[in-house]
Amino acid sequence: MIYEQIKGEDKLVINDVDIDWYDKLIIAGPCTFASYEELYKIAYELKKRGIKFLRAGAFKLRTNPHSFQGLGDEGIEMLLKIKDELNMCIVTELTTISQIEKYADKIDIIQIGSRNMYNYELLKSVGKTNTPVLLKRGFSASYKEWFLAAEYIYKEGNKNVILCERGIKNNISDETRNILDIQAIPYVKNNTNFRIIVDPSHASGNSYMVESMSKASLVAGCDGLIIETHYNPEESLCDKEQTIDLDTLDKIISFNKKFKYE
Ligand code: PEP
Ligand code: MN
Repeated sequence: MIYEQIKGEDKLVINDVDIDWYDKLIIAGPCTFASYEELYKIAYELKKRGIKFLRAGAFKLRTNPHSFQGLGDEGIEMLLKIKDELNMCIVTELTTISQIEKYADKIDIIQIGSRNMYNYELLKSVGKTNTPVLLKRGFSASYKEWFLAAEYIYKEGNKNVILCERGIKNNISDETRNILDIQAIPYVKNNTNFRIIVDPSHASGNSYMVESMSKASLVAGCDGLIIETHYNPEESLCDKEQTIDLDTLDKIISFNKKFKYE
């Protein structure tokens, strides 16, 4: 396999933040947001807790076309304002080549969503930028397909690809949204040089599972977490059933400080 030869950049500096993989890349924030005030309030709470990476979607790829689709360009402007005001790094999903051309140099980590993992033209486009990419696993993608998607990005010159396990399609029961494939962590560690973080929110679809799945992922040796978080999950416009509150986030942060994978 070609991907076995890939050696990721060990040192990743994003917006002057030197990523300390030992401390893990912890990313938190809402699925999406409805106003600047809501976004600011969440970001402020995260910053207080030492979180430097804010996730929030402005271009949402919703299953239902009637659902809120995000604030679009206006939302990106709000994210950039927060970046300036609170000095945080912005992680957000871009869904088209024109969005990538417009925003790649302004945001800190470009998220490629699960639905776009197979969008090879988009992968090539993001590969032409220098911005780190968070590549979500397609919800039905094999490891091989996922790594080769990463390779599309590498091949164009962008070596800062971080994989994200976000759960695979659950065809057995509908109690959980997806199934967290925790085995992906040791598989990636054993067979590639990629960094892998975990999204326990989209994997489980249930906020009460997020704390234990985050801890389990840290124990399994993941390089970080991306967690949907809101000061009042009930107010979330999107994915409120899987969004955790700040108290739960505190528990995950403190576990991460205590536990170190050997
Ligand atoms: C998200 O993180 O907001 C998201 C839509 O995730 P995924 O692409 O994994 O479904
Ligand atoms: Mn979401």
